[in-house]
Amino acid sequence: MPYFTKDTSQYFHEETPKVSVLGGDPWGTAHKIGAEVPHSGIYRCTGCGDEITSNKGDKFPPQNSHQHNVLAGVAWKLVARTKTK
Ligand SMILES: [Zn+2]
Repeated sequence: MPYFTKDTSQYFHEETPKVSVLGGDPWGTAHKIGAEVPHSGIYRCTGCGDEITSNKGDKFPPQNSHQHNVLAGVAWKLVARTKTK
């Protein structure tokens, strides 16, 4: 879970996920290891809960990038989207 202080909480804004039949919801998608990062931000491993920061256009880390507690279901889900120009 990302941490922040009372002072830095002013920079967090709650976003309502956009549901679309065309997909593209940045919040509900689990991204495979090695896939291209669609949005800059903080991502959480669905296998072990580890968190990473990734920039749009980079690749998600490979499976051996860290020790997973659970072998099944390793994927990356967006936790906090950053406003990056
Ligand atoms: Zn993991």
